[in-house]
Amino acid sequence: MYHDLVRNASFWLFLLHVDQDLAESARQQSCPCGGRLHRANYPRKPRGGPGDLPAVYRYRFSFCCQRDGCRKRVTPPSVRFLGRRVYLGAVVILVAAMRQGPSSRRVRELSEIFDADRRTINRWRTFWREHFPLTKFWKVARGRLVPTIEVDVLPRSLLEAFLRNDQDREGWKKLLLFLSPITLTGGLKIEGSE
Ligand SMILES: [Zn+2]
Repeated sequence: MYHDLVRNASFWLFLLHVDQDLAESARQQSCPCGGRLHRANYPRKPRGGPGDLPAVYRYRFSFCCQRDGCRKRVTPPSVRFLGRRVYLGAVVILVAAMRQGPSSRRVRELSEIFDADRRTINRWRTFWREHFPLTKFWKVARGRLVPTIEVDVLPRSLLEAFLRNDQDREGWKKLLLFLSPITLTGGLKIEGSE
């Protein structure tokens, strides 16, 4: 099952390296004002991952312009964190995808493995089924996906589109990079709202 990989610390190290690359390319570009960017990470208390995540998982990478009077924030996209959610992004996708059907035994298992209560898991389901399909991001991005993704089985249909098997780390990387625009400020705006 997909969740064996996601319980594995090496999977999270792999995603950490992707985030470090994303952060490094953001840092190399200076602020639009010309100022240099300094590291100014956001603290996080990530949940749902294995117990032995490195301490750097307590930070979402971010930068701040060093020029007085500007101090603009630059936060690169992330494959680890889904916006301001506490739970790690892959967990939010995976658990919602595995929560198929009304089996209460299954929900209990998931909630134990990933340290998320039933209400949290239901909130994720609602997010993927009801909020996510309405976002501007999805309305544009879904056109780039082949085959067409079925909205009523989100996010499982995304997992199936990107992962070739249950050990497919590169597939996870592609999926999380595909979704990474929603990890930016305003990335989950609903079409028509400002
Ligand atoms: Zn600046």
